[in-house]
Amino acid sequence: MEKYIFLTGGVVSSVGKGVTAAALGKVLKERGFSISIQKLDPYINVDPGTMSPYQHGEVFVLDDGAETDLDLGHYERFIDASLSSVCNVTTGQIYSEVIARERKGDFLGGTIQVIPHITNEIKRTISLVPTATDSEIVLVEVGGTIGDIESLPFLEALRQMRANLGRENTVYIHVTWLPHIGATGELKTKPTQHSVRELRSIGIQPDMIIARSDYPIRHDLCEKIALFCDVEERAVIPLPTTSVLYEIPLLLEQEGVGKYVLSRMGLESRKKPDWTEWESLIAEQRKPRPKVRIAIVGKYVELKDAYMSVREAVRHASLTVGVDAEILWLHSAELERGKGWDELEQADGIIVPGGFGARGIEGKITAARYAREKRVPYLGLCLGMQVMVIEFGRYVFDSEDVNSTEFNRITPHPVIDLLPEQRGIDELGGTMRLGLYPCQLLEGTIAAAAYGQSLVQERHRHRFEFNNNYREIFNSKGMVFSGESPDGRLVEIVELTDHPFMIGSQFHPEFLSRPNRPHPLFKRFIEAAANLSREKQDDSQLIAEQSLDGDETDKGV
Ligand code: GLN
Repeated sequence: MEKYIFLTGGVVSSVGKGVTAAALGKVLKERGFSISIQKLDPYINVDPGTMSPYQHGEVFVLDDGAETDLDLGHYERFIDASLSSVCNVTTGQIYSEVIARERKGDFLGGTIQVIPHITNEIKRTISLVPTATDSEIVLVEVGGTIGDIESLPFLEALRQMRANLGRENTVYIHVTWLPHIGATGELKTKPTQHSVRELRSIGIQPDMIIARSDYPIRHDLCEKIALFCDVEERAVIPLPTTSVLYEIPLLLEQEGVGKYVLSRMGLESRKKPDWTEWESLIAEQRKPRPKVRIAIVGKYVELKDAYMSVREAVRHASLTVGVDAEILWLHSAELERGKGWDELEQADGIIVPGGFGARGIEGKITAARYAREKRVPYLGLCLGMQVMVIEFGRYVFDSEDVNSTEFNRITPHPVIDLLPEQRGIDELGGTMRLGLYPCQLLEGTIAAAAYGQSLVQERHRHRFEFNNNYREIFNSKGMVFSGESPDGRLVEIVELTDHPFMIGSQFHPEFLSRPNRPHPLFKRFIEAAANLSREKQDDSQLIAEQSLDGDETDKGV
């Protein structure tokens, strides 16, 4: 029988419930169980695909093309799995399904109600996960905070699941926040107590409480929480904030979380957890490493969550290369106004990530021009690849009119254009080219050398593509099409010959990067950036030495 671990959040949002779920998944996986994680999002959108990154952060894409919450990215990175569309469920999806069945007459004239129809549908989608992902233990994270009206049907469904499946197959974990009172220097447990009371009023008694805080949590506070919330003392887990994200599974491990959770489910570890690789990753991250400056030029840079996977992929690659990447967040619209150029000029590498719409696009194009002309390593991700193509086209045709039809419908040079099959699609939700597609690599290119393979699979999320009418002329001017769809119809990777590293991919490599297995394109990009950083240092050292020599000569004379 499959086992379910339900995670709810208390007190405030944004305390890292998603990362905690992902880290717990890793702890259990290390004990020899097949794990999967599902996120239940109480908002009414069918998926986050149509939501603004300002509202929602990054849209993470799965192999099967599902557009999901960014927490799915944490899940995949921590448990190193490829999840399925059933792993992200929203209120919108649940209602759409129930209403579609009602229209078909499936309910035989019955009145459709939140309980049981909506809750049954929620339970059904939860029960799909073990088979869809071939897992024995499913962690289910409920988005939002206890007390939100919109999450009530989800919590009711979770409550019923214990009644349906039994105690030994269900564990409830409540993740809360201990506020810090500056005046007295104390951490407070009262909001946690209130949150548990609220949870109990819904009929859920947590088996474990994970208490988050930005400060160290003393043991007596855990005792107090245990006492007031009727949770065993060893099941109150202090989890202070750490600057090293991938340390969280180890912190949970130290607190005995894996052992306790398994014992609640009547299970024993199948193998002794082996943390050697993970520990060395963390030790590496703590070590001082030479700095490399990476500029990310986007239009949502005020909200770093909008580029979550890109930032993580940079971190993974930097660890492997042995450098410390400092990310310079540059706003593309500001670059257009002449601001931020000093920072861009300091960068050892430039990333233009994915994006939609015309705002800030010229800033990205000028950043790509700067990278090409100054030979600064450049990695273009989806829109960033299209930007690189537009910039190259402007150089080839010596015309600022070269563009993508996304930004200028009547451009005389539509170097990026809609796919024929995308024309005539009016609906926005779920209609892009989404999910995993094969990409054939061209021998002898930087991309092929980076991957060390001839055929790879990568995740996509876009409507526009390279326009094949420009292949020949671009090729003759130094752009190589180093990756394409196996039928040769679609350009997937472009790179420049006369440049240390200027590559753009139509897909999103950042979604497949793992802490212990950085993505090959990111790794090569960071290596190129590290080279540039070293060259710059050598140059400045030479200049310093020369001026010193000059001084001495002056003195000597
Ligand atoms: N807006 C571009 C397109 O739809 C790029 C999308 C993206 O970067 N994800 O093709």
